[in-house]
Amino acid sequence: SGTAGNNFLRSLIAEDLRSGKVPQIVTRFPPEPNGYLHIGHAKSISVNFGLAEEFDGICRLRFDDTNPEKESQEFIESIQADVAWLGYAWEGPVRFASSYFDTLYRWAEYLVEQGKAYVDDLSPEEAREYRGTLTEPGRNSPYRDRSAEENLDLLRRMRAGEFADGERVLRAKIDMASPNMNLRDPILYRIRKARHHQTGDAWPIYPTYDFAHGQEDAIEGVTHSICTLEFEDHRPLYDWFISNLPVESQPRQFEFGRLNTSYTVTSKRKLKQLVDEAIVDSWDDPRMPTVAGMRRRGYTPTAIRHFCEMVGTSRSDGVVDVAMLEHAIRDDLNQNAPRAMCVLNPLKLTLRNMPEGHAPIVAAAHPSKDELGERSLPFSADLFIDAEDFREEANKKFKRLVLGKRVRLRNAYVIEAVDVEKNVDGEIVGVIADLIEGTLGNDPADGVKPKGVIHWVEAGSAVSATVRIYDRLFTDPAPDRGGADFMSFLNPDSLRVVEGALLEPGAAAASPESRFQFEREGYFVADRYDHSAEAPVFNQTIGLRDVWAS
Ligand code: ATP
Ligand code: MG
Ligand code: MG
Repeated sequence: SGTAGNNFLRSLIAEDLRSGKVPQIVTRFPPEPNGYLHIGHAKSISVNFGLAEEFDGICRLRFDDTNPEKESQEFIESIQADVAWLGYAWEGPVRFASSYFDTLYRWAEYLVEQGKAYVDDLSPEEAREYRGTLTEPGRNSPYRDRSAEENLDLLRRMRAGEFADGERVLRAKIDMASPNMNLRDPILYRIRKARHHQTGDAWPIYPTYDFAHGQEDAIEGVTHSICTLEFEDHRPLYDWFISNLPVESQPRQFEFGRLNTSYTVTSKRKLKQLVDEAIVDSWDDPRMPTVAGMRRRGYTPTAIRHFCEMVGTSRSDGVVDVAMLEHAIRDDLNQNAPRAMCVLNPLKLTLRNMPEGHAPIVAAAHPSKDELGERSLPFSADLFIDAEDFREEANKKFKRLVLGKRVRLRNAYVIEAVDVEKNVDGEIVGVIADLIEGTLGNDPADGVKPKGVIHWVEAGSAVSATVRIYDRLFTDPAPDRGGADFMSFLNPDSLRVVEGALLEPGAAAASPESRFQFEREGYFVADRYDHSAEAPVFNQTIGLRDVWAS
C-alpha cells in the first residue's frame, strides 16, 4: 500500500497537485549503469515509482550514462530486470542521458554565446588550487575572460577531438567566491576519448553529472527530481542551469536520506571489489545486498517493497537494522511459502513393524493457506531423519527422538525408538523404531505421548540435494564506518554448502525460484540458475528465527 510509512515527499506532492503547481507528477529513477542495483536503490525505486503510482503520475527509467568507462551493457540489462522484478513498470521506452548528448552540447554552446561558460586550460592540479577551500574563496582562472568567439572556437575544437584528455574543460562562469563550492565555476564538459556503450566513438567530450541531470529532467518533463541528500549542495547549480538555459520545463530537485542496512556495504564501488576479489561469486551472489542477490537468496519483491515503505523517507541518512529487512522477508514467507521437508544431515530410520505398501500420506502444503493445496508424501519402512534429532540418551529438554522414547514424525505417525545400529567405530548409522498404530492424526491410544515433532523423508523417493546455508557477509554491524578497511570485517563462514541433503520429491521437482519453508529448518529457494529436478540446489533465504538477536 502506498499510504503507510512516513514520507515527507508525499505531503509535498499532494500540496503541489492541490495548488495546481503541477497538473500531474512525473518522476524518474536515474541509475548510472556502473554496477548492479542494491537495497538503497530499491528504496529510491520504491520512492520514485511508488509516488508516481500513488498520485496517478508517471515514472521513467533513465540511465544516467555520462561516464562511459565504468558503464556497461551488462549493468543496463541487470538494472532493467531488477526494476521489473520489483514489480514496477516504467513509462514509455527506457531513456538514456546519452540520447540527449546533442541537445546538451547545443546548450553548452548557448551558454558560451551568452558569456556564461568558458574553456579553461588550467591543469587539474592548478584548477584545484584556484578553487579555494571551504573557508577561503577561490580565484578566477586566467582563462576566464576569453571572448565568446574564442570560447566557441575552442569548444568546437574540443568537440572535434583536437585536444588530449584532460587538456581543457568547459566551465560555467558563476562565482569563484561562492560559499557553495559547486558554484565555483563548475565543469560542464571533460575531454575523454572513451568509447561509449550507446554512442560509440561519436563523442570525445562528455558532460558532467551536474550539467546533464537537471537538463535531462527538463527534457523529459520531470516535475519532481528526487535524489539523495549528497546532492543537496548541488541544488543551486541545478536551478542555475534550469534558469539560464532555454529548457522547455522547470523540474525541481528534492532530496531524501540514503538508506543503508547494517552488516553490509551499499556502494557500488565496494560491491564491485567483493566481486573482483572473488569474495563472492558474482554480483548476484545470494550474500550480496544487490537486488539480484536478494532475488537469488529468495527474498520476495513484496517484502522488499514493504520494508522500503516501513523504513519511511526522511531528510537524514540512516542505517537501518538489517534484522528489519529479514523480518519482512520471514513474515512474507511464513504467510505464503509452501512447506516441505528436507533432511540436511540424514540418519537412516527403519520402522521394523511397518506394513508394506503404505499409500502416500497427504499433507497440507501450508498450515493456513488452503489455496496452496496438498502434497503427497511417500511413506515406507525406510526413512531418514536428521542425525541431530536422535540421541541414545538425553534429558527432558531434548524434545526429539531418544532410545526407548516416542516422537511424532511430522505430518505422519508417532514412532518409538527401540534400537540403534553402529559401525565398527561405534558411530550411530541407523535407528530402529516401531510405528505406533492408529497415530496418523491421533494421539497414541495407550496415552504415552510423543516428546516432540521431527521432520523426515522416505528413503526410496527422497532426492539428494545441494543446500547452501548463508550467514551475513560481514561480522560487524557497520563494516563501512571508516577507520578500518571494510574487507577486514568479512565473515569467513558466510557460506556453508551441504551436499547430500534429502528432499521430499515434490520440492525437488519445483521450478527454479520456488520458495519453501523447509519445516524446522528455515526458508529456502530453488536456485535460479543451478537447480533442476534431477539435481536440486536450494539456497537458504533466512532461518525461522533471528539467530543474531540476543
Ligand atoms: P553508489 O554510491 O552505490 O554508487 P549512486 O548514488 O552512485 O550509488 P546511482 O546509480 O547514481 O548510484 O543511483 C541512482 C539513484 O538511486 C540516485 O537517485 C541515487 O540517489 C539513488 N540511491 C543510490 N543509493 C541510494 C541509497 N543508499 N539510498 C537511497 N537511494 C539511493
Ligand atoms: Mg550517482
Ligand atoms: Mg556512484
